[in-house]
Amino acid sequence: MPEVLLKAEGLTKRFGGLAAVNNVSVELWRDRIHAVIGPNGAGKSTLTNLLSGDLPPTQGRITLGNIDVTGWPPEKISRQGLGRSYQKTNIFAPFSVWENVRLAAQSRAPHAARWLEKATNFIANNDRAMRTIELCGLENRKNAIAGAISHGEQRQLEIAMTLATGPQVLLLDEPLAGMGVAEAERMVELLLKLKKDHAMMLVEHDMDAVFALADHLTVMVNGQVIASGTPADVRADANVQSAYLGE
Ligand code: ADP
Ligand code: MG
Repeated sequence: MPEVLLKAEGLTKRFGGLAAVNNVSVELWRDRIHAVIGPNGAGKSTLTNLLSGDLPPTQGRITLGNIDVTGWPPEKISRQGLGRSYQKTNIFAPFSVWENVRLAAQSRAPHAARWLEKATNFIANNDRAMRTIELCGLENRKNAIAGAISHGEQRQLEIAMTLATGPQVLLLDEPLAGMGVAEAERMVELLLKLKKDHAMMLVEHDMDAVFALADHLTVMVNGQVIASGTPADVRADANVQSAYLGE
């Protein structure tokens, strides 16, 4: 059995009268990609925000590792090993690629009181930032200004910043949005590499990418899960076909 790194049970988020997420349960496993699909407004980004602590749930429970993190603020959940990217690109445009990743690497480190600890953290953060930049294929853009690189590279940078915090669980909200074919292919390759040692939740509209990457697939409509299973099972589900895939 794969190891469960994140478990959410019965999550609900209400905005006034609207249940944007309605009694949703998901599990994320190490070395597995769990894709979440559904039409606009289905509640995918809200679910991501609940899991990362950016929004507190109205109801339900979130367990990260073996720890109940329900209601924790996002920075504490991040230090516990969860990293996320946002649907809209979220980088520091005037800073270089290196500076962006280096700052992200630092954000996880515990506060160091002694100079020797500070120096050790400094070196460890430099190393992690450099390894992450290489892993994400950005080494030749290291000194470029983040605001000036291509859209595809900016999305890679965002993944690099998420990884630099050293997470075990990754939540990626539409990493392929707005990409051309070649950029999307590069991103799919990167996500396949990241599968190893991480538990990943991938929210994505690009169905070719979803079916290329997902080990498990959940379909949301109007805040609710209408199907969850292997990609082959979900694809064969008549409800899903009429509600979403339009096949
Ligand atoms: P998706 O990411 O699947 O497109 P969202 O999670 O962004 O869907 O949105 C789900 C529903 O919740 C939508 O109807 C959206 O308008 C609503 N919603 C999302 N965030 C808020 C908010 N902060 N306040 C009120 N309604 C929201
Ligand atoms: Mg969304």
